[in-house]
Amino acid sequence: MTYEPSKYERYIHHGIEVGVRSDLLGKHRDYCLCYKCKWFKPSCQRAEAIFAFDKKYHIVTPVFECPDFKEEREA
Ligand code: SF4
Repeated sequence: MTYEPSKYERYIHHGIEVGVRSDLLGKHRDYCLCYKCKWFKPSCQRAEAIFAFDKKYHIVTPVFECPDFKEEREA
C-alpha cells in the first residue's frame, strides 16, 4: 500500500523558500531518531555531517535508520 500525501506547500525556512509536504511541515523532531539518541549531545559525527549538508543545500533530512542509535534512557 502506498501513502499518497494530499497536499504540498511552500514556506520560508531560514530565509529560503522551500517546498514541503503539508502533513510533515514542522515534524522533523517528531520523526528523527537523533532527538531520542544518547549520542546526539554533546555531539555525533554523523548528525553533524547531516546538519552541515542540510544547511549547505537548504534541505531537511530526518534520520530514520542508524547503526549507532541508542535510546537516551539506555545505560
Ligand atoms: S548515532 Fe545516529 S541516531 Fe544517534 S545522533 Fe548520531 S546519527 Fe543520530
